[in-house]
Amino acid sequence: MCWLAAACLLGACGAAAAADLPSATPLERLHYQRISHAAEIDADLEALAAATPLARKESLGLSLEQRPLSALLLSSAKPGQSHPRLMLVGSQHGAAEPAGGEAMLRLARQLLGGDLRDVLDEFDVVLVPDANPDGRDTGHRSNAARVNLNTDFVRLSQPESQALVTALERYAPLAVLDVHESAVLKRKTLAREGYLTDFDAQFEAANHPAIPSVLRELGQHTLLPALIADARAAGLPAQRYIGEITSIHQAVSNGGLSLRNFRNLAGMSGALAFLVETKLDSRDDQWPTWRNIEARVARSLACQRAFVRRMQAERAALAKAVASAKVTAQKEPVTLRAVYALDHDHPTIELPLRRLADRKLETLSFADHRRVKTSDEIPMPATYVVSQPSDALRTALERHGIHYERQSQGFELPVVAERFARPKHAYSRARLLTHSDKFITTAPGALLIDLVQARGRLVPLLLDPRSTSSLFRLPEFSPLLETGKEFGVYRVHKGVMRAGSP
Ligand SMILES: [Zn+2]
Repeated sequence: MCWLAAACLLGACGAAAAADLPSATPLERLHYQRISHAAEIDADLEALAAATPLARKESLGLSLEQRPLSALLLSSAKPGQSHPRLMLVGSQHGAAEPAGGEAMLRLARQLLGGDLRDVLDEFDVVLVPDANPDGRDTGHRSNAARVNLNTDFVRLSQPESQALVTALERYAPLAVLDVHESAVLKRKTLAREGYLTDFDAQFEAANHPAIPSVLRELGQHTLLPALIADARAAGLPAQRYIGEITSIHQAVSNGGLSLRNFRNLAGMSGALAFLVETKLDSRDDQWPTWRNIEARVARSLACQRAFVRRMQAERAALAKAVASAKVTAQKEPVTLRAVYALDHDHPTIELPLRRLADRKLETLSFADHRRVKTSDEIPMPATYVVSQPSDALRTALERHGIHYERQSQGFELPVVAERFARPKHAYSRARLLTHSDKFITTAPGALLIDLVQARGRLVPLLLDPRSTSSLFRLPEFSPLLETGKEFGVYRVHKGVMRAGSP
């Protein structure tokens, strides 16, 4: 269907769309007897795009096993124009968490021709229902390389995680929802202690401490509680996200604080970003549909609808915060490190778990480690210099959408020169030994990274060895960090001078 369809110009989009949409989703046509295959979801996106000029299917790339990674862009904007965008991503965890993607196909119908149609008068909506098609089709949580995609957003080693970064760049959404499910039955861990978890829906906002404060505050203090209240009002008991519980003896927190997860990378890319996890019922119980998939889809859909409606209600605040973050991102100090710590004012938290033996609820007490302790705050640098960049490092920066200049000549620069102690173990944090201000002259081939760019604030997080999200924590980059030797990545706080200039 042509994007520039005459129906739009006549203002008849809504009516045309409602009449022509394929009503049943693939899962509904399957009568909930199994989850949809990747090709069935992709064909559904195709059918929706063919049925209405409000929907367009776009390619984000291919998975490792060459399955399409597709987005459905819903828009009522005039040709050549766009509204601010919302983006929802489903089923990063493949066959283990399929309900989010299935629900998104229902959400598409409600937006195109149902009770959510008015949302498209104010927003374009980007749906990525099947972010891990290989995992979906092969029965895995990971992708075909057995990588957990939702921990790959620092390394960006997989085509599926790279495609989501492409989508963030292409659509520049105001707000993002990353849609997951959480298994109540954890056979290899919590179930061995005799318990199941018991959450219906959990929301979290992007929480990386380097996200511009205007986004973090709006996300965590206003929108997150509102989303939870909205889901409850829709009949779904919802709460703030408690990171995965795998033992009754563990401490609880609010989940990953690094850029490894998609919500934090989206937050660092300038969007209000959220996670939702809905209950994935135990496979050991009896359900009216395959593993209770019909009810699971309904839970996820309720949360996705709450997100869309809440973002619509807060549209002005979203637009203002995102615009303001573009300015403050260039100035605000960058907090490199955050860890969870015991909350001394509130040292324990009571949570209901279900006993495996009789399926009765029991309230258990956990150490409350939801206090975020930050350290290693640096002023936002103007520029970074990488004196001897490897191809792998350049590739990593490019995958993050970070622009750099490769210098053909040497440069004289006022820099902060640092020496670190390399950690004993990969994925650990390097310790700063010394730092000093000095002038260096770089060799030809050095990279100059001007931080006044869309993703500039990511650069300190990826390149400073103290950062929780540093590339230099990864085994493939950590050998570049030698204990006591001047580190070849430099911060430049002021302007840059050419060699020979006064
Ligand atoms: Zn998940």
